[in-house]
Amino acid sequence: MYPRASVDIDGVLSRFVESFIRKANELRPGIFPPNYVHRVWHFEDSGIPGVDKKFVNSVWEVIKADPFFWANEEPYEENVRALRGFIWDERVEVFYITARMATGGVSALEQTIRWLGGQALMNARTSVIPVSGPEAKKQLMELLQIQDSLDDYAPTVRGCDTIVGHRAYLLKQPWNQAERESEALLVVGSVEEYLNKVMEDR
Ligand SMILES: [Mg+2]
Repeated sequence: MYPRASVDIDGVLSRFVESFIRKANELRPGIFPPNYVHRVWHFEDSGIPGVDKKFVNSVWEVIKADPFFWANEEPYEENVRALRGFIWDERVEVFYITARMATGGVSALEQTIRWLGGQALMNARTSVIPVSGPEAKKQLMELLQIQDSLDDYAPTVRGCDTIVGHRAYLLKQPWNQAERESEALLVVGSVEEYLNKVMEDR
């Protein structure tokens, strides 16, 4: 069996935060300033006037009506490039496990396959698995015997970190700084660094 590694999509390969902010600014022009840096997980905790739970929910309603929301995200070019080379060069099975939901009547699986295909991030050693919530990721890592995982959401990394024989890495992003400082999680600064760890961990 080939070694198995998992790579999260939103916040790791694709720029979810920018897409969300674009939708928010379409709904209420200028609500997020152009120089905004996202330093918390929940948008309602950002301290931006008018960005409360109610507004965030209304942005999600707009997102959930857009059949291209996930398919249209911009990539983190450097991270995508590193992974693209890896999936073609290395005999490692890569799993994209995502908690995305269907939007505009188009499933998360369909949009994600379109996006990954467009970035040349799919081949015969890759799989896409949509799950109902981030909690399900840990169970899948165990079931599929995935040895390494990368995610930008600290609670997911914290959960996966408890799996015996599994190494869960947190991708350094502005929105997980608090957890990076207060918890002993494995942290990487890029997908390239993660993939080097995957090969070292074998
Ligand atoms: Mg993510």
